[in-house]
Amino acid sequence: MKAEIIAVGTELLLGQIVNTNAQYLSQELAALGIDVYFQTVVGDNKERLKEAIRQAQGRADVLVFSGGIGPTQDDLTKDAIAEVLGRDLRNDRPAMDKIAEFFADRGVPMTDNNKRQALVIDGCTPLPNATGLAVGVAISDEAGHHYIVLPGPPSELKPMFEAEAKPWLLHQVLTDEMPLYSRILKFAGIGESALEDKLLDLIDAQTDPTIAPYAKEGEVAIRLSTKAHDIQEADKKLTALEVQIQSRLPQHMYASEDVAIEETIVKMMADLGLTVSAAESCTGGMVMESLTTVPGSAAMLRGGIVCYSNEMKEKLLNVPHDYLEGEDAPGAVSREVVEVLAEQIRMITDTDYGLSVTGVAGPGYSERKPVGLVYIGISERGSETEVFELRIKGNRDTVRKRSTKTLLYRLWL
Ligand code: ATP
Ligand code: MG
Repeated sequence: MKAEIIAVGTELLLGQIVNTNAQYLSQELAALGIDVYFQTVVGDNKERLKEAIRQAQGRADVLVFSGGIGPTQDDLTKDAIAEVLGRDLRNDRPAMDKIAEFFADRGVPMTDNNKRQALVIDGCTPLPNATGLAVGVAISDEAGHHYIVLPGPPSELKPMFEAEAKPWLLHQVLTDEMPLYSRILKFAGIGESALEDKLLDLIDAQTDPTIAPYAKEGEVAIRLSTKAHDIQEADKKLTALEVQIQSRLPQHMYASEDVAIEETIVKMMADLGLTVSAAESCTGGMVMESLTTVPGSAAMLRGGIVCYSNEMKEKLLNVPHDYLEGEDAPGAVSREVVEVLAEQIRMITDTDYGLSVTGVAGPGYSERKPVGLVYIGISERGSETEVFELRIKGNRDTVRKRSTKTLLYRLWL
């Protein structure tokens, strides 16, 4: 089954908004085992839209539209599809009632163009809009093409896809196909290319299950997918491959589901009854922030200090003055300082682990050290403090995020 995504909207072509709907739909369709071969963007122009539809008919089975179903004159997606299919538009009663109610509730008169949002194509399955007014459309034609029309606002498109379009696809379109099952494997302390290198022969030989990188900022993950009659059969196939992968990277695989490293750490520490604290300079609290987003972190997280200035490093965390200032001082971004920070925060908070981070987030140099030079420290009760030097490429945001993730990965390892 091949699909094409057609995003409608002149503002997309002008670069005023990013086509995040296409990204979302591509991921969702891939998860259903539908191959997306083309993504098209077309402006609010009926003739060009019809041209795009005809072109897509020649190369896809499923055409998924986003946008252009609002109340205004430039919302033409349904009109264009109806014309290409030679069908009429009609009013969808429930959608019409909802629009009328919406305006009645607000005590404002309903304008005629608002009724346009209730239009559907004759013979279609209307897709109710739980978070907006414009009704969606799912329809199949005689030639075996399937069309799904979704609203442009992501807050409407996503729930409609999930609650209406996906079940329609599963029950009307994918009935003969075996369902696709996926499993996400997550890795710590290894880069994407190093991971690929270790799995090269598996990736080259892959047919079933398939192995694909699963892109997420600053995280290394792969998705295994297989078609199977039921979940037991799928589990068997996926687990066999997972075991093979894990045996190649025994240290690095931290989860076989899509969980963030901070969730794994909170669970692990809470299970072991261990506590953690953090002293952060360049990350400004990001380590604490990411751990506190996880429910249940109170069991393992004691507290932290953001020691951004040298003065605070000295006053609050007892970093010796001559580590920070003076001709031969190692400076705030150094092994020496990150080590003291980790040990001090652990002792001050009386935790099992003390984490620390100090670095040059950029954009400019600091202490004549380059942007991206970061030190992270992990002090464990009764053990020698570990210090790692990182050289992160990227802007301020990347440097801060990577430092945080890497510190958490190191703690897990
Ligand atoms: P509306 O009822 O708001 O007019 P619509 O279905 O007609 O909805 P559009 O007019 O095409 O959709 O887009 C409405 C808004 O939805 C846009 O201003 C934009 O914020 C968002 N949007 C539209 N298309 C996309 C897209 N492809 N990716 C992300 N956001 C989008
Ligand atoms: Mg619109």
